[in-house]
Amino acid sequence: MAKDSYGEHSQSPYTAHANGKGFDRSAASREQSPGGIAHETGELHRLLVESVDDYAIFALDPDGYILSWNAGAQRFKGYTAEEIIGKHFSIFYPREKIEEGFPEYELREAARVGRFEDEGWRIRKDGTRFWANVVITALRDAAGHLIGYAKVTRDLTERRMAEDELRASEERFRLLVNSVKDYAIFMLDPTGHVATWNEGAQRIKGYSADEIIGKHFSIFYPPEANAIGHPQHELEIAEKKGVYEEEGWRLRKDGSRFWANVVITAVRRKDGSLAGFAKVTRDLTERRNAQERALASARQVAAEETARQIAETNRARTERLQKLTAALSAAHNIPEITNVVFTQGLPEIGADAAALGLADEQGNKIRVLADHGFGKMPAWARIVSMTDDLPMTRAVRTGRPVVLHSKAERDRIFPKLRDLLDPFSASAVWPLSGRGRNVGALSIHTNKELDDSSLDFMEAFAQQVAQALERASLYQAEQEARTRADEANQAKSAFLAAMSHELRTPLNAIGGYADLLAMGVRGAVTQEQLDDLERIKRSQKHLLGIINDILNFSRVEAGQAIYQYSTVEMCEVITNVGHMVEPQAQAKGLTLEAHECPRDVVVWADKSKVEQILLNLLSNAVKFTNEGTITVTCSFESIEHVDVTVTDSGVGIQEDQLEQIFEPFVQVGRSLTQAHEGTGLGLAISRDLARAMDGEITVTSKVGKGSSFTLSLPRSAERHNDRQRR
Ligand code: ADP
Repeated sequence: MAKDSYGEHSQSPYTAHANGKGFDRSAASREQSPGGIAHETGELHRLLVESVDDYAIFALDPDGYILSWNAGAQRFKGYTAEEIIGKHFSIFYPREKIEEGFPEYELREAARVGRFEDEGWRIRKDGTRFWANVVITALRDAAGHLIGYAKVTRDLTERRMAEDELRASEERFRLLVNSVKDYAIFMLDPTGHVATWNEGAQRIKGYSADEIIGKHFSIFYPPEANAIGHPQHELEIAEKKGVYEEEGWRLRKDGSRFWANVVITAVRRKDGSLAGFAKVTRDLTERRNAQERALASARQVAAEETARQIAETNRARTERLQKLTAALSAAHNIPEITNVVFTQGLPEIGADAAALGLADEQGNKIRVLADHGFGKMPAWARIVSMTDDLPMTRAVRTGRPVVLHSKAERDRIFPKLRDLLDPFSASAVWPLSGRGRNVGALSIHTNKELDDSSLDFMEAFAQQVAQALERASLYQAEQEARTRADEANQAKSAFLAAMSHELRTPLNAIGGYADLLAMGVRGAVTQEQLDDLERIKRSQKHLLGIINDILNFSRVEAGQAIYQYSTVEMCEVITNVGHMVEPQAQAKGLTLEAHECPRDVVVWADKSKVEQILLNLLSNAVKFTNEGTITVTCSFESIEHVDVTVTDSGVGIQEDQLEQIFEPFVQVGRSLTQAHEGTGLGLAISRDLARAMDGEITVTSKVGKGSSFTLSLPRSAERHNDRQRR
């Protein structure tokens, strides 16, 4: 290269520079004419040479002493012509070159072959070095004798420095590339064989430079990529487009895979021919793993979010269902249920219309009880035969829902419903089952899509509706039964009241007329007749007592008894009633004992009713006791109630009959007590009265040992305050 450029430039100073300096031939000829044309030409050359200042051009004598000097020489070397002419040219050489005898060698060579060229360090006058291109040409006369040398020197220091810089930068670059560890950077020759290798390549791929240089780069590709000729394909694209880039799997020396980013760049020479490919590969496995981890965690987050949303939806749905369930449980009859279905259920479901149909008892027909959102439902659709194939009948017959996702599907299966259901795009009909039977169906129509979640919701809702219907029908049946029972009871009470009233009138007449006869108003009566009249009178009294009991009971039962509350002293009641039964007790030879009861023991009750109860208990005690004692005790330990207990030493009552005796008309152990009269109403009336006054009657008994009946009534102070508070 140095020679090339020298060759080029060797011409120019003589031509271009001469011209460039405005060489003027006529001017030269005018100033210097005496020597003729040849002389003129020589003079011109001298001038020319002297004025050239890009080259040092000077002549040496055959021994190397300087004969001439020009501007360029002065500029490069720093000497003036006066200073240097006559000096030996070795003055320009570094000491080591002189010691080598290099200057003489140059001259000898130039003399021998005519020309010597060299590049090397030379010394300026000030001692500094410069890099010079030197051409020494031997000058010979016509006879061929050596007359000296022409020496042309060019200062190449700058070029040399530029070259050094380039070399240094190339070296730096090479070192740089070599030491890069994160990237595999290497060259491929045009056929794809590895030409260079760096540390990064070794680190990433595992091969040392020795192992890999010269190998084809397809060694880095997995078999499947090689099978389809992928490596070659990459080079073709890089050659055509200049560069090829991709990410993909590559193989390490140990056979493991790594995810690589690969850039292949075609490298071309100056003339455009392909010198090879630069290949830069980066191991992205870590990055890819990180991406995958990020992706996985993103997926996880998404999955968690979805799960959260589902849970939220479920929660919201459960809440809505609970609300509907609550509304349905408050509905006691079919109109209330349909009201909940239509006004609350449909909006929650997102439905536009619905109908509730119930099967009749025989299961032959379904009657639509209520509908909503259809406009006017035609008569044929209100009552349908179970043999008709319609969604409701099908749901009731099969016990399974009929779900129709589209109009087309619905029209195809149930063409009869085309017009009625035309405004709705989808339908779902749910069977309603209660007590093991499909009692009806709930049909729901919507313009929304029937997805799984809305169907689930509808199913749950339909179940709730079915349960509500079942509850309603149970409730209704119970209500009806109760009404019937109440009616029967009232009829009975009314009958008893009427009858006993009717019976009392003639009985009173019987008593009255018997008294008249006994008084002898109708004439004298014999003793025998008097005895008979006495029997009539007893029977009449007995019958009247029974009838009074019945009347009493029917009044109590019918809730017609009237209570007049006051503070009642228990000791007074006990004393009064004791006097009433004393004659009968004495007649049977029984002892009647009343324990002391303080006057301030008072109850809040109707005094006559308390007397009636206690009289009944004492009469029974006398009636069912043949010998021994009847005791009346009063217990007032409790602040809430007062207990009066009548204990006898009579026949007793069997354990399993202790409750029955409070039923009306029950008289147990009839055979044992045949001697006793009664209606079996006394205890029933007594308990009703006691309970009506917030009291109670209880009994304990042992057969053959006696019985103990306790009347418990609220204490007055308590009761009184309580009432006033109300
Ligand atoms: P009545 O006394 O008119 O038969 P009650 O209702 O007063 O009707 O009594 C019902 C039945 O309870 C009596 O028939 C009798 O069998 C039983 N009973 C009631 N009090 C006693 C008692 N103190 N001892 C044994 N049995 C009694």
